[in-house]
Amino acid sequence: MTDMLDQYRVAEEPYYRPVADEVALYEAAYAAKMPVMLKGPTGCGKTRFVEHMAWRLGKPLVTVACNEDMTASDIVGRFLLDAEGTRWQDGPLAFAARHGAICYLDEIVEARQDTTVVIHPLTDNRRALPLEKKGEILRAHEDFHLVISYNPGYQSLMKDLKQSTKQRFGALDFSYPEHATEVEIVTHEAGIDATEAGKLVSIAERARNLKGHGLDEGISTRMLIHAGSLMARGIEAPAACRMALVRPITDDPDMRDALDAAVATYF
Ligand code: ADP
Repeated sequence: MTDMLDQYRVAEEPYYRPVADEVALYEAAYAAKMPVMLKGPTGCGKTRFVEHMAWRLGKPLVTVACNEDMTASDIVGRFLLDAEGTRWQDGPLAFAARHGAICYLDEIVEARQDTTVVIHPLTDNRRALPLEKKGEILRAHEDFHLVISYNPGYQSLMKDLKQSTKQRFGALDFSYPEHATEVEIVTHEAGIDATEAGKLVSIAERARNLKGHGLDEGISTRMLIHAGSLMARGIEAPAACRMALVRPITDDPDMRDALDAAVATYF
C-alpha cells in the first residue's frame, strides 16, 4: 500500500510563483482541517498551486478530473469481481481519506449533484466517508485534506454548486496574475525572454477585456505558455500566437480577425 501511496508523492518542487498570500492561507487551512475551494478561470495556476502545496506539506496528492458521467462509486469505491471473488476497491476519495493524502477534485461542478453530496460528511467535524456498499464508515486520516476547484465563469443556474456545498469550504480566488508576475511565469515556463513574454501577456490582457463581449473565456496563462513554447522552438511569434492564443478560443471570424490584429500590434 505504501508503494501505491508513493506514486502520489510529489518528488520535486513544482515551480509556483505566489501571487498573494495564498501559500500561508492554504497552510493555515490545512492545519485547521478546513477544506479549500480554488476559484478562478481555467489555466490560471490552480492545479500547479495544489501540486506545490502537496510538495511543501510533504503529502501525497490524489487528483480527480470530474466529469458529468462520474458517479459516486467512481470516487468512493466499488466491489470488483476477480478470481478470488469480490474485492472492495477504494475510489480516489476513499483512498486519499484512508491514507492521509490531499484529494483534489478538479471542476467538481461537472460532477452530478448526487456525487457532490458524498463529500459532505468529509468536510465537517465528522471527517468521515460512509462506504455504504461496504458497510464501513471510513474515518479520515489526520493528514487528509480536501481541495476542489471551481470556475465561477462557467456556471449556469442549472449547474452550480449548492450553497450547502460551498459553505463547507474556505475559498481562495485565483485570477490571471498581474502583468509583471505573469511575465515572470511565462518566462520561466516557456523559456523565452522577458520582452517576448511581456508582449504575450499584453496580448492576453487585451483579449481578457473582450470576455463577455464575444469571448466566453480570456486567454489563460497556460495558453501564453503554449505560445511561448512554440516561439522557444523557433516558430515566428505571429504564427505561434495564431495557433496557441487565437484559434483555440474562438470560431467566430470577426473575433478571430480582431485578435489577430491585437497580435499584430505587438509582433
Ligand atoms: P488551472 O488548474 O487553473 O486550470 P494550471 O495550474 O494547470 O491551471 O496552470 C496552467 C499552467 O500555467 C501551469 O502548468 C503553469 O505552467 C502555469 N502557471 C499558472 N500560474 C502559475 C503560477 N502562479 N506559478 C507558476 N506557474 C503557473
